[in-house]
Amino acid sequence: MKRFYHISDNTLNSRGWLYAYKIYPLSEEQVNDCQVCGRIGRYPKREFAVDVEGGKKFPDFMMCAAYPLMIVSKDVIDAWKTEGISGFSAYPVTVRNMSSPKEYYHVVVEGRCEPDLEKMGFKIVKQCESCSAVTYDKPIWSNDNFAIKEETWDGKDLFTARYFPAIVLCSERVLETAKKYKHTNCRIVPLEDAQKIGVKSLV
Ligand SMILES: [Zn+2]
Repeated sequence: MKRFYHISDNTLNSRGWLYAYKIYPLSEEQVNDCQVCGRIGRYPKREFAVDVEGGKKFPDFMMCAAYPLMIVSKDVIDAWKTEGISGFSAYPVTVRNMSSPKEYYHVVVEGRCEPDLEKMGFKIVKQCESCSAVTYDKPIWSNDNFAIKEETWDGKDLFTARYFPAIVLCSERVLETAKKYKHTNCRIVPLEDAQKIGVKSLV
C-alpha cells in the first residue's frame, strides 16, 4: 500500500508567521452560491491579492484565513517543478499591505481521488440536486480518520478527494521535496492523521 499525506501550512501549530486575512480577487470567481440549498461560497479561480497580518516572518506555506486556498512561495513552486511534482497549476498572489521579500502563488490542485466514506464512518444523507453539495450523517469536523480509495487515485502528486476540496493530499515525493528544500511553515502528516489536532508534522 502506498503512503499518502495531508499537506497544509503549519501556522496554527507554530509562531510568528504572517498569514493572509483578506483577499481581493483579481481573476474570475468560482461562484458556488445555490438557490436550492442556500449554500454560499465564492473564491477566485486564479490570481488574487492579499493583506497579511499576525507575525513578522514570511513563510513558504502561508495560511489563508479568508478562504481555504493554498498559498505557497515561489521557492516551493520552483522546487516542485525541479522535482517533477505533478497535479497543480500556480497563479500569482500579490501581497498588498506590506512589502514582501517572497513572491507568492495560489496553488490550484488538480489531482483527484475518491474518499472512502465507509472507512471514515460517514454516510451521505442528502445531496443537492442543483449544486451537488452533500450533507453527511454527522458534522464533517467530527471525522478524525481520513481515508481514500487508493485504486481511484489518478497518480498525481498533489490531489484532493471528491467532496473534500479544502483538504489537500500529497504523495511521498512531495514530503521528500519539502524536507530536501526545507520549506518553512509546511505541515505534512500521514493521511489517517489529516484531521487530528496535535499531530507533529513530518517536515
Ligand atoms: Zn445546492
